[in-house]
This record gives sequence, C-alpha cells and structure tokens, in this order.
Amino acid sequence: MKRFFRYLRLPGVRLQLMLWYTAVFAVLIFFSDTILYTQLQTSLVANLDSSLRVQAQQISNGVTANADGTITIQDTTGDLPELAMTPDSGASNVEQQGNHSDVTFGSLVRILDAKGHLVRGTSASTALIIPPVSITQAMQGTPWQGNVSTRNGQQVRLYSMELTENGVPFAIIQVGESLAQLQAALRSVALELVAIAPFILLLGALGSYWLAARAFIPIDRLTRTTQHIQAGDLHQRVPVPHTHDEVHRLATTLNEMIRRLEAAFRRQRRFVADASHELRTPVAVIRSMTDLALLEELTLQEYKELLGNINIETERLGHLISNLLALARADEGKMSLELEPVRLDQLVRAVATNAEVLAAEHAITLEVQAAEPISILGDEARLIQVVMNLLDNAIVYTDAGGLVTIDVARKDASSACLTIHDTGIGIAAEHIPHIFERFYRVDPARVRADGNSSGLGLAIVEWIIHAHHGTITVESQPGQGSTFCVTLPLAPTKPVQTGSLTREKSKAVER
Ligand code: ADP
Repeated sequence: MKRFFRYLRLPGVRLQLMLWYTAVFAVLIFFSDTILYTQLQTSLVANLDSSLRVQAQQISNGVTANADGTITIQDTTGDLPELAMTPDSGASNVEQQGNHSDVTFGSLVRILDAKGHLVRGTSASTALIIPPVSITQAMQGTPWQGNVSTRNGQQVRLYSMELTENGVPFAIIQVGESLAQLQAALRSVALELVAIAPFILLLGALGSYWLAARAFIPIDRLTRTTQHIQAGDLHQRVPVPHTHDEVHRLATTLNEMIRRLEAAFRRQRRFVADASHELRTPVAVIRSMTDLALLEELTLQEYKELLGNINIETERLGHLISNLLALARADEGKMSLELEPVRLDQLVRAVATNAEVLAAEHAITLEVQAAEPISILGDEARLIQVVMNLLDNAIVYTDAGGLVTIDVARKDASSACLTIHDTGIGIAAEHIPHIFERFYRVDPARVRADGNSSGLGLAIVEWIIHAHHGTITVESQPGQGSTFCVTLPLAPTKPVQTGSLTREKSKAVER
C-alpha cells in the first residue's frame, strides 16, 4: 500500500493536480447525480400523488350514501364503466376472484364501505395486495398514500381517502396507479447520468491537465532562465511577469536572491583582491631588503638593522594573516564564542591600564569612567579585542595633547553601554558608513606607529559585537573627535563577581 502511495507521488505536479482534480470531480459528480436523482424521484412521486388525489376527488362526486346505509356509485367522469356496474355476487366475491390483471393497464379503483368492506372495485385492482393501514388510517380521517405491490410483484402507488356526508363517514375510496412508467423514467435518467459521468470526468481531467500545464508555463520559463545563470554572470535576472500573482512573487524573490548573491560574490572578490594586495606589500618590502643584503656587502650593524626591519614586517604580516583568518572563520560561522559572565567594568579598566603606555607615547590623556559593576554574558578574549581595537584607534587618530575617555555604564534595564570618545581628527560624514568595511581606511597615509593598520580592525569589532547580539554606532565631527558607542545585552542573572581577569585573559590584554 505504501509503495502504491509512493508511486502516486512520483508523477509531476501537473499529473498530480490532474489526478486530484479528477478525484474531486468524481466525488462532486456522485453527489450532484445522487441529489438530482432523489429530487426527480420525489417530484415525480409528488406529481403522481396529486393526480391520484384529483382522480379520487372526481370519482367521489359519483359516490353517495343512501338512507338505508347502502352506497350508490355513478361513473360521473365516464372513465370507469366497470364501477357503475352492479356486482352480481357482492363485494367479497370481487376480491375472491383473484383476478391477476396487469396493473399497468386499466384503472385501479376500489370503493369500500364505512366498515372497510369492499363494495366495488375495478378488475385490475384485484391484483393489489392492500395493506390494512391504508384502510384504517383513511377511516380515522387522514388520507393515506404509499407504495403497494401486486401479487406478481409490480409496484403501485395507492391513494386512500374517506368520504363523509354531513360529517358522517360512509365510504373509503382507493385509487392507484402503476409505478412502472415512473420507475422506467427514473431508470433511464439514472442510466444517462451514469453514462455521461465518465465523459465529464475525462473532460475534467483533460481540462485540469491543460490548466495546470498553462499555469506552469511561466514557472518553466523561470526554471530555464535560472538554469542559465552561472556563478560568473550573476548580473542576469529572471523575467518578472506583469501579473501580481505567485509567479510574480517567485520571480521577484529569485531576483532579490540573485542580487544578494551577486553582492556577496562581489564583496568576496574584493576581499580576496584587497587581501592579496595587503599581503603583497610586506612581502615586497621583505624581498627588497633581502635583495639589498644579498647584493651588497653590509656592516654587522646594517645587517642587524635590516633584520630588525624584516622582523617588523613579518610581525605585521603575521598580524594581518591572523586578522584575515579571524574574518574568514567568522564568515564560515566557525568562530564560536565562549560565553561566560564577564565584568565589563573590570575588563575595560584592565585594557585601559595596558593602553596607558601607548597613550603616553602619543602624549594623550586616557580617562576611564567605570564606577558601577556591569556584568554581561560574553567571550572575554573577544571583548578584550573589541576594547583594544577601539582604544588603539582613538589613540592613533588623536593628535598629541588630546583626550581619550572610556566610559562603561548601564544604558537601561537590559543593556550596557561602552563609550569611547576621543578629541582626535574625526571622520568625515561620507566615510562613516564605510569604516566597518574590510580594508577601508579613510586616509591610508595615516597609519599606526606599529604599522599594524590594515583596515580590518573595525570589521572584526563589528562582527564580535553582532555575535554578542549588541550594536555599535559612531558619531564624529572632522577636527573635533569621534565617539564609538557599543551596546551589549546585560547578563540575564544577577551581576556575578568574577574577580579579576583570568591569567590567560590578562596575557591577551598585554598582547
Ligand atoms: P585601521 O587598522 O586602519 O585602523 P580600522 O578598521 O580600525 O582600520 O578603521 C578603519 C578606518 O576608520 C581607519 O583607517 C580610520 O581612517 C577610521 N577610524 C577608525 N577609528 C577612528 C577614530 N577614532 N578617529 C578617526 N578615524 C578613525
């Protein structure tokens, strides 16, 4: 059975739709045919009943009660000569004759007295098997109508009513009509319905297949275009139909996805190109220095100097490579955070203490405001990297005599705010949206004294903060200074006293 259903799922959507539609059509046809047939049967029987009622009324006009209790019957319509005849041997004899006439031909009329004894009846009526209820119910004043059968199994519709004179019942009149014609009509209608149903189903199946095929034309077109779009030509777009339907939505969604992919590929290409360029520079410097050393005879002091410079370049190269590696791992989603409760105020003070040497070298005053204990859930080593990078930038891009302030405070009930403000060179408005991009430097000529300027620092900072579900914003005025504001969610539990930084993390701060 399971295999059968699996097989059913195999054909294409068009065929599946066709099968489903056909099944629904079949159910609808079955119900509509059943309703049609039942309605027809009910109305035919109702018609027959009303014509029997009329016939009974007409016959009753010729039936009168005599003073001696007998009944006089006259054929007022002229259609029932049999009834007008006087019976030779009484009512009971008529019944005993057992005349098995065909009820399809001839009238079916019976007249009974008030006690229910048959007074007169047509010869065809002798074949009827009369149910007693048809007489007793009529005697109680309620006309009876129903199906009765004949001795040879034919079906007859019978109507039975009571006749009264001055409110006194004196006779019962029963009128019948064979159901053979009605049943034949119903049978032929049923046959026609059954014969037509497969054609309607076939037409429905073909129609639904055609409609499904038509509906899938634009989807096929989209599929073909999408198949042609390779990684190299992501500038292509799928055609968007003018209709505002699902296909329109699918096409716009595909185009939006291709646009995002194109942007991602472009970013990736630029990243690779920038990275190669950045890596080439220190390699070229080292190469030219070694060339010089190999070409010329140098003094020991000159060799030492040269090796010192090579050392600085390799250190710079190493720094760049580790930054690139960090971003590549972050892109791949492989860089995981080791989350633990961190006292942000203590962490900032520790980093600031280490940065004081650099600040003093640049003749810059460093102020820390971290009065209240702030606990966040984060990766201590990565958060140290964030504070270090921001503090380094603030010091490097501030002229001698300037001031760098670092402030940690609770922003609201659920977040903490780390603000690093400097009175440095500032950033022009047009550069602000780009400074978090990889390798972006406002002024490549102005680099850190240690030569570790790669334009990757803020990109890494932003990634770490986003990974902590935080945000980073910057406000800056050229010539007046910059303020970097980092918002981080507070630890969900009460502030945890982590004490001082772990020895390992302290080493990271020193580095
Ligand atoms: P870099 O290694 O060059 O400092 P970053 O990604 O850290 O790279 O910063 C990108 C650029 O943003 C820097 O080159 C610098 O032009 C600008 N910038 C960053 N911080 C500041 C600041 N505090 N003041 C002025 N400019 C800044």
